[in-house]
Amino acid sequence: MLDQSRIDALRSAEVPAAHHLIDGAAVPASDGGTLEVISPLDGQVLTTIARGTAQDVAAATAAARRSFDAGVWANTAPAKRKAVLLKWAALVEENALELAVLGVRDNGTEIGMAIKAEPLSAAGTIRYYAEAIDKIAGEVAPTDPSVLGLVHREPVGVVGAIVPWNFPLMIGAWKLAPALAAGNSVVLKPAETASLSLIRLAELAHEAGLPPGVLNVVTGEGPVVGEAIGLSMEIDVLVFTGSGPVGRRLLEYSARSNLKRVYLELGGKSPNIVFADAPDLDEAVKVSANGIFRNSGQVCVAGSRLLVERSIHDDFVSRLTEFMGKMKVGDPLDPATNAGAVNSERQLMQNLGFVEEARTAGRGIIGGKRILKDTGGYFMEPTIVTGVTPEDRIAREEVFGPVLAVLPFDTEDEALSIANGTEYGLAAAVWTSNLSRAHRMVRGIRAGVVHVNTYGGSDNTVPLGGVKQSGNGHDKSLHALDKYLDLKTAWIKL
Ligand code: NAD
Repeated sequence: MLDQSRIDALRSAEVPAAHHLIDGAAVPASDGGTLEVISPLDGQVLTTIARGTAQDVAAATAAARRSFDAGVWANTAPAKRKAVLLKWAALVEENALELAVLGVRDNGTEIGMAIKAEPLSAAGTIRYYAEAIDKIAGEVAPTDPSVLGLVHREPVGVVGAIVPWNFPLMIGAWKLAPALAAGNSVVLKPAETASLSLIRLAELAHEAGLPPGVLNVVTGEGPVVGEAIGLSMEIDVLVFTGSGPVGRRLLEYSARSNLKRVYLELGGKSPNIVFADAPDLDEAVKVSANGIFRNSGQVCVAGSRLLVERSIHDDFVSRLTEFMGKMKVGDPLDPATNAGAVNSERQLMQNLGFVEEARTAGRGIIGGKRILKDTGGYFMEPTIVTGVTPEDRIAREEVFGPVLAVLPFDTEDEALSIANGTEYGLAAAVWTSNLSRAHRMVRGIRAGVVHVNTYGGSDNTVPLGGVKQSGNGHDKSLHALDKYLDLKTAWIKL
């Protein structure tokens, strides 16, 4: 699939100006405004997207509401919705390379990861919920025999979805697939710096037979388009993946408008804990490096804090440094690349700022520099920061870049205390041969997912979500459908 000549043809293809997708049609911003899309590969203008306004959001939510109330999708038999979604998944797979390259030019993820994590993952998610939806049934409650208590599961109505720039198709599909499978209408807002492939994904849904108005996409800035979605009186449920500060705002918007339910998937500072009795240190090195440096660390579950038992600390760091040195950072459209571009200049500067602060505090820095500046793109060396203390900002705050903070520990209790010592609780990993310790750590770590002797593994069958300030909702698995289905009781006297 990753044929370099096809990639190169797509790499230089002109990208037309992108419009909103409202009521099944491409629509420019109501005031004609556009935003330039700067490619992180070369810092050049790739194209423009519509700079949405509150009026555009109102048009999209009205279209969504109309389609929902008319029942063009909500009242379609689940088996028929399934057929449309399966066709959509097939179209996404047929267009996988085109979607992946477009996304890479927009957000910088290396193509080797993007092809799997973006279109192919999205197609898998769409297929998963398509297959699930005609197997979900209501309940007959065990009431007194003089009545019949029925529990219906109904679509919630209009869903607002706001997503980030890392993995737009994967995360977009985590919201769209269960929301649409359940019969809802949706208004989607992609991130400013990763809208293009999501617009194409939505176009493919219409090609697959999704009725107009059921899936609407409004592009533009968070504080304008995202705020209008957050404050909309037409949106019943808001699902979000992104940063904590924006998540807080969404809760405020809900309180100020119609008390819409808000589900948040937020950031992390995930601990990757290596005990001296790890079964295979070389495997732990490889997986730990990939767990923070792939996609230049722009992964919500990135293992950004490495906790290493002191007796193997120096050996582990030196093996990690050696492995890291062999990772190929650069052109995201070269299938051999292990880590592509940082998404934006702003994010690159933020990453470098964290490193400089650690350097000033006397921490050891391996890597830490901007590279390939002559390309005009935003590239950064994989970076290890050693001698970090749990109080350091780099041990507590999400960098969202290829920066690994390394902290030594002496005992299991100390490792657990450091692991739980941040406001986040998204992911974690434990490397040990001791089965009892593995279970103790899985129980003790406050996180949505704890890996044992691996990192980052997951699929559609298991939920992904955080605890503490990493969020309050779960994507993926059948549990995610609960966000998009209301319970209704029918109480019938017999
Ligand atoms: P972000 O919060 O800056 O932006 C996310 C989305 O919110 C974008 O579409 C943006 O336009 C919108 N937005 C911005 N301001 C807004 C406002 N005032 N009102 C409404 N919407 C607004 O996040 P980002 O930089 O795009 O993404 C990185 C963050 O996402 C990281 O914190 C990362 O950990 C997190 N993330 C979490 C998961 C997860 O599953 N938990 C997955 C991927 C990314």
